[in-house]
Amino acid sequence: MHTPAAFEPAGKRPPIAGSWRLRFFAVRHAPAFARFYAMFERALVSLHPVFRAVGYERAERPVAFVEKAIKGALFDCRMCGQCILSSTGMSCPMNCPKGMRNGPCGGVRQDGHCEVNAAMPCVWVQAWEGSRQMPEGVRIAEIQPPVDHRLKGLSSWLRIVREKRERPAATSAKPNTAAKH
Ligand code: SF4
Repeated sequence: MHTPAAFEPAGKRPPIAGSWRLRFFAVRHAPAFARFYAMFERALVSLHPVFRAVGYERAERPVAFVEKAIKGALFDCRMCGQCILSSTGMSCPMNCPKGMRNGPCGGVRQDGHCEVNAAMPCVWVQAWEGSRQMPEGVRIAEIQPPVDHRLKGLSSWLRIVREKRERPAATSAKPNTAAKH
C-alpha cells in the first residue's frame, strides 16, 4: 500500500525516471533556471508597493495559486512555503518520500535512485548534480531548519518579498532565507 508523504498531493505520485518531466530538465539546466529565477525575484520584490496596497493577506490566495501552477509544472513543487530551490540545484527536496531537507537519507541505491521509490531518482542526487553546475552551488552545504508545517500551501514568493522589503536587516543577517524561490 502506498502511504502519501506529508507534502505529496493525493493521487500524485513522485515522478519516475524515464518520464519526461520538466523537473529533470530544470536540474540539467540549473544555472539558466537559477538566473531566470533571480531576475524574477527582483521583479517580484519591486512589486512590494502593489502587494502592500492590495494587502498581503488578500494577495496570498491568488499568488499561491499562480505559484503552485508554475512551480508545480517546472519543479513538481509541493508548496512547502519555504522554498530552498536555489540551495538544492533546482531540485525540490519535498519530492523526497522522507521529506529530507538536509541531504540524502543514506539509503540511496547504487544507481542513484530512491530507497522508497526505486523508480525515482533520489532528489538529493539530482540536487548535487544541479548544484555542481551552479556558481553558488556551495549553498547546498547550508544547514536548513526543520520544515515549518504551518507554511504548507502558502506562497514562498510573497514570503520572500516581505522578508526582503519589510525585514531587510533580518534577511541579510540570515543567509538561509536569502534568494530563495
Ligand atoms: S516551495 Fe520550493 S522547496 Fe518548497 S515544495 Fe515548492 S519547489 Fe519545493
